[in-house]
Amino acid sequence: MRKPFVAGNWKMNGSRASIKTLVSGILNGMGRVNNVEVVVCPPFVYISEVAQLLEGSTVALGSQDVAKEESGAHTGKISVSMLTDVGCKYAIIGHSERRPYYLDRDEVVAEKFIAAQKGGVIPILCVGELLEEREAGQTEAVVEEQLQGVVARTGIKALENAVIAYEPVWAIGTGKTASPAQAQEVHAFIRNWVRKEDANIADKVRILYGGSVKAANAKELFSQTDIDGGLIGGASLAADEFINICAAAG
Ligand code: PEP
Repeated sequence: MRKPFVAGNWKMNGSRASIKTLVSGILNGMGRVNNVEVVVCPPFVYISEVAQLLEGSTVALGSQDVAKEESGAHTGKISVSMLTDVGCKYAIIGHSERRPYYLDRDEVVAEKFIAAQKGGVIPILCVGELLEEREAGQTEAVVEEQLQGVVARTGIKALENAVIAYEPVWAIGTGKTASPAQAQEVHAFIRNWVRKEDANIADKVRILYGGSVKAANAKELFSQTDIDGGLIGGASLAADEFINICAAAG
């Protein structure tokens, strides 16, 4: 039985004041969320502060990225040991806003994934196709290549301690959600791809859907067989909406 999982990716949004309000709203609403692992991923500079606000709660912390290097002369980067030092349990890796714009190619994504696991942080590995790739019938090939980019370097067992997020790029921040059937088709493909290598891991690994999830569409998406929760962008910035999404996963 896979425990449902919902993570909020706050991206580059918020201020000390707005984040305080957001966290307090989330904590107040957690009584409505049953049996769901809830994670928030603030901007780096606010992680410590959010860690303090979350103390004693069941809400976990994640980062939006991590350096592949352990330490040293890497201006502007944040290492895995810094993340664990401030209480981060998860790191989003390979988000589609990073792959093209910040040169997080498959090889870099794999290196970050490996660094995270080595340092005790659980990767949330993002995969997903562009609109033109979907229209050209390449969705499965693209997703497979992105998964293979990591698994070829780590071995399939690494997925035992990771979360996968399927995020069709055309659905992120656009208001266009994949239909539950479209999403389920790709989630089933991913799980079967893992199953070919290891049936036990395929049954255990949580596969999240991300792309314009809202409280209004969450329940139907999360009720699909192979959708184990969501990675939520825009809708994670409003406490009530985020809590409603988390509750829908339970
Ligand atoms: C995301 O950025 O991971 C995401 C899913 O964003 P949104 O929910 O805003 O589409």
